[in-house]
Amino acid sequence: MGSYDYDLFVIGGGSGGVRAARISAGLGKRVAIAEEFRFGGTCVIRGCVPKKLYVYASQFPEHFADAAGYGWTVPEARFDWQTLVANKDKEIARLEGLYRKGVEGSGGQVFQSRATLVDAHTIRIEAEDRTVTADQIMIATGGRPNPHLALPGHEHCIFSNEAFDLPELPGAIMIAGGGYIAVEFANIFHGLGVETTLVYRGREILSRFDMDLRRGLHETMEKKDIRILCHTVGEAVDRRDDGRLDVHLSNGERLVVDQAMLALGRIPNTENLGLGEAGVETGKMGEIVVDDFSRTNIENIWAIGDVTNRVQLTPVAIHEAMCFVETAFKNNPTRPDHDTIATAVFSQPEIGTVGLSEDEASTRFEEIDIYRAAFRPMRNILAGRDERMMMKLVVDRATDRVLGAHVLGPDAGEMAQLLGIAVKARLGKQDFDRTMALHPTAAEELVTMYKPSHSIRNGERVG
Ligand code: NDP
Repeated sequence: MGSYDYDLFVIGGGSGGVRAARISAGLGKRVAIAEEFRFGGTCVIRGCVPKKLYVYASQFPEHFADAAGYGWTVPEARFDWQTLVANKDKEIARLEGLYRKGVEGSGGQVFQSRATLVDAHTIRIEAEDRTVTADQIMIATGGRPNPHLALPGHEHCIFSNEAFDLPELPGAIMIAGGGYIAVEFANIFHGLGVETTLVYRGREILSRFDMDLRRGLHETMEKKDIRILCHTVGEAVDRRDDGRLDVHLSNGERLVVDQAMLALGRIPNTENLGLGEAGVETGKMGEIVVDDFSRTNIENIWAIGDVTNRVQLTPVAIHEAMCFVETAFKNNPTRPDHDTIATAVFSQPEIGTVGLSEDEASTRFEEIDIYRAAFRPMRNILAGRDERMMMKLVVDRATDRVLGAHVLGPDAGEMAQLLGIAVKARLGKQDFDRTMALHPTAAEELVTMYKPSHSIRNGERVG
């Protein structure tokens, strides 16, 4: 080990890479990390963090409207996009500094450079035009938006990266996709006053979620005047003489918009990394193939986070980093646990979910009971807001185990984090029943649903 410059070299300074570098350095390992763009990666720089800030920004018009029912007179509100972008930039710069400081404070060395593999133990630091060697190498280069090169006029489109920093707020936008990013941005732009059309190829948005959540969110978004076109794709995008865009849709319609945004999934960042030179195997999508411990086919090279295309979520990359440290440096082989991950869609209303959907559970279990409550949350009543909240538990009749918990409504993400503990711990419906309600909250519905709304036996709905 002593013959290498470093015990660990990490390529990629996002959530996973920084965590692996910081914790390993804290153990006294000689660690370096290289990042070609900004420390913090997708989550901090152009993902979860700025997204959540923009979600907050986009919620204010509803708060202002709701205030009247509570006796407030709010003067006409005005929104300034540039202020939001500038304040977001300040916060991102602060977090970026913390990420970098975290590694340096633990004794790691930081390279502001692209780094590529020369062989299984040698890394080229491009900005310094030199090579260094490392015993262990971690690749955590993340992913990027699917560019959808097959779409004529794709060069006129933006992705979530650019959406955060547009020079001005568009008057109208078309967003293609029906996943997390498309749905979240549709709600953000709509909330900020942009005429928004969501174009999705499937029959219902958010294909990986419970159908009640999907339908409930779809209906509410449409009530707010977000246009959602399912079974539709963009076929071409043209730049008009006035600078706006014509988006030609498969349903024959032509949308005239100021921006067209593609949110059609993300692909791993593995090009020109020297993976071939080091002999690292990649899969069909370009992802780095790893075993259960995040080790590639090359003994001393590891990969975590989005570049492995397992579960593209920040906490997952961080967890994989922690498991890597246990395995590689603490003589405690630890597999990342990807089972039952709570997740949220920061739409308006929010989705929070953990475990199996009704459809998934009904194909895997002989008999399931569905407990479902739909109601108007208290805070909407004086506000005069006709928006309902939905909560749902999917329960295995044979064992009483709660297989899935799904919430649509205010703070659903916060609830899903806590429900995640109960579902992960394989608690039963009886455990929910014997938990005292906390009144008055919306979440109390989760422990007061005594009768199934329906059951499913051998895939067929009964009762
Ligand atoms: P998603 O996988 O969530 O959604 C991709 C969407 O694009 C799907 O609706 C998919 O349709 C559609 N699509 C894919 N290819 C095509 C195509 N060729 N033509 C038309 N439609 C297509 O990806 P996102 O880009 O929204 O987000 C990437 C990842 O980032 C997510 O999977 C998630 O893990 C993470 N993320 C998490 C967030 C959170 O935790 N709140 C927020 C944002 C991102 P179909 O469903 O039919 O396949």
